[in-house]
Amino acid sequence: MALREFLETVASRTRDALRREAERLLEAAGATHEPVSLHDVVSALNLSLIEADREPFSCEAALAPLGDGFAVSVSGERGERRRRFSIAHEIGHFVLHPAQARYERGGAVSEAMRVQEREADAFAAELLMPERLVRQAALEDGADARRLADRFEVSEAAMSVRLRRLGLAERQSDPPPRSRAAL
Ligand SMILES: [Zn+2]
Repeated sequence: MALREFLETVASRTRDALRREAERLLEAAGATHEPVSLHDVVSALNLSLIEADREPFSCEAALAPLGDGFAVSVSGERGERRRRFSIAHEIGHFVLHPAQARYERGGAVSEAMRVQEREADAFAAELLMPERLVRQAALEDGADARRLADRFEVSEAAMSVRLRRLGLAERQSDPPPRSRAAL
């Protein structure tokens, strides 16, 4: 088995673990309904959230040391929903890859880093679109990606992927988008 395939198997095996981590965090933050309050999640982790006026680096969010702790620095330039996904992605790094705070670079350089990026994206999806809440909302509102995206304050692309993953998507849905925010 190629290394890449092997690592993807490892990453996919941890999906349940990622979900449990996200659920534990949501519980600690008292986030019981959508849209998930990232301010509450950040507070529960004793993280700070810094709103940057413009992107300080070549990325829209970063995890950086601040005083005794860490801060998620985020730029609002690309719209609120994308911004929320970026914050959740950084929270994923903080929870899953401790002691590795670093500025995001454009393009992970190693397979290990790519695995971490995928894990952070998967964690972000679990955090912003918890399975239980999405299933409940789909029962109430139908599995309509646009409507549910509004309800959860995520991009429609991200909700589409989420619905598919949960087996809730309708057949005629769009092909999977390629951007990372879609995971
Ligand atoms: Zn990342």
